[in-house]
Amino acid sequence: MTEPPLIEARNLTKHFPPGNLGAKGHPVRAVDGISFTLREGETLGLVGESGSGKSTAGRALLRLIEPTAGEILYRGEDLVKLPPARMRALRREMQIIFQDPFAAVNPRRRLGRIVEEPFEIHGIGGREERREKVRQLFKQVGLPDDHMERYPHELSGGQLQRVGIARAIALGPRLVVADEPVSSLDVSIQAQVINLLLDLRQSLGIAFLFISHDMAVVEHFCDRVAVMYLGKIVEIASRDRLYTASRHPYTEALMSSIPTLAAGAKNRKVIQGEVPSAAAPPSGCAFHTRCPIREKRCQEEAPELRESAPGHFTACFLRE
Ligand code: ADP
Ligand code: MG
Repeated sequence: MTEPPLIEARNLTKHFPPGNLGAKGHPVRAVDGISFTLREGETLGLVGESGSGKSTAGRALLRLIEPTAGEILYRGEDLVKLPPARMRALRREMQIIFQDPFAAVNPRRRLGRIVEEPFEIHGIGGREERREKVRQLFKQVGLPDDHMERYPHELSGGQLQRVGIARAIALGPRLVVADEPVSSLDVSIQAQVINLLLDLRQSLGIAFLFISHDMAVVEHFCDRVAVMYLGKIVEIASRDRLYTASRHPYTEALMSSIPTLAAGAKNRKVIQGEVPSAAAPPSGCAFHTRCPIREKRCQEEAPELRESAPGHFTACFLRE
């Protein structure tokens, strides 16, 4: 367990300047000081309702957007401080898969060229060599060869997400941020794409930051899970502990929103109210406005993450 992590976020923060959407004059605290590690080949789930800061965290981690503060140690090097040339070289090793596969590609490019883009960008291989690599990648993600000549609009969402996956693994990354990679797909297709990702994780040893609001998908895919609420991690634990012994009331609320055969969709408890604005988060514990067990203290003080069992951290005064 002394092996250094592949990547470590320390106090990662991203605030957006106040816009017309945010409360007047206040920056949007999309990601507000989160810390976590990811080991080689490990899969960390990042869950939370829409607006909790998951996508911003994933993008800031890869420096696709500049963090406002914090450190990102990738195999010991702080990505935030890296000179552009070194950052470009490391980009080969870290890739992203987006939620909407159509938005992620140039609609006028053939799919073969889309998957070839990373080789172009990094100046790798000659024309024939690249074509052969692309052919192998199509096979690896379960797409027929002749699809290389097709255009994005000729494919279904699920097939096009396979193209997105092929492009993400093209250069042999060590780390992939998968930002809701199946959320836009039909439920019947989701399992196929998840199974492809599981196969690739197994065969290629890629570490994943797997972003999702679907607790059932995360349980299937992840080794550990971090729960985000309004820009902060409120609980982080191994998958097994989180799904059998979660401690944070917000995690419990997310869990009880998972449809089960026994409970049926009708009996699902959904969390009361809306996620408050990240430009004006509630005082104290940001979840207190929706928390079923809140006490006075929760409005006044912000709880820190505390370790209740090895590797299991929870930010809640009442569940320490
Ligand atoms: P999630 O992926 O969990 O749904 P996001 O990271 O997309 O959450 O958003 C977190 C918060 O940051 C939201 O309040 C969102 O409106 C805000 N946000 C995201 N991107 C921007 C941006 N480019 N400018 C201003 N606010 C943003
Ligand atoms: Mg998102």
